[in-house]
Amino acid sequence: MSQLDVLWQLQALDLQLDLAQRQLREAQGRLGESDELGLARQAAQETADSLKERQRALRDVEMELASLQEKLDDITDRLYSGRVTNPKELASMQQNQQHLQKRRGELDDVALLAMTEIDDLQNALAERQAHLEEVNARWMRDQQELKRAISEFQAKMTLMMAQRTELASMLDRQTLRLYEELRRTKGGRAVSGLKDGLCQGCRVAVPTAKMQLVRRRAEIVFCGGCGRILYAE
Ligand SMILES: [Zn+2]
Repeated sequence: MSQLDVLWQLQALDLQLDLAQRQLREAQGRLGESDELGLARQAAQETADSLKERQRALRDVEMELASLQEKLDDITDRLYSGRVTNPKELASMQQNQQHLQKRRGELDDVALLAMTEIDDLQNALAERQAHLEEVNARWMRDQQELKRAISEFQAKMTLMMAQRTELASMLDRQTLRLYEELRRTKGGRAVSGLKDGLCQGCRVAVPTAKMQLVRRRAEIVFCGGCGRILYAE
């Protein structure tokens, strides 16, 4: 195999490696929590927080109702005990009783509303938790597949790297350095195919005399347009 054939194969391999590296990075970028999972978790958490908040509010109302009921019972006992005879005091107690009854009615309404809201929130929470579980299960499957794909990529790349080392060892040092330098400065493509009289890298026509030189594959010939090494396909 001539140096030019080796260069051509090395170039093809390097392009494959570049692609594999891009695909690997893309796959690695998809590792970790997805937006969908994050949103599902957030929705469930927010609903759970709202539910807790409403339950706490209901407990407060219930406590207030209980203490209010105690006061009412106390007043009722005293009103019917016969011990209070002062009409002014009786009137004041009755007024207080009415006031407490009105407040109890208001708190009953608040408690009823809170219970309805809690009921709705419990239903919403169950739905969101089910959705979260579903998204999470799918995400875990995807991540497993992704991890498998990544190790396959890595194994493939290891093989390619070994091939690359072998090919590179077949080039003399100067040619290899030239190749690496061109790879670096010409967008990853150091060797360009010559086909139908055109450089495939820049589409510039190659003069006939130069084409003949390229076809002989005896020496390195550069494209006059892009400066890449020409290879007759
Ligand atoms: Zn060219």
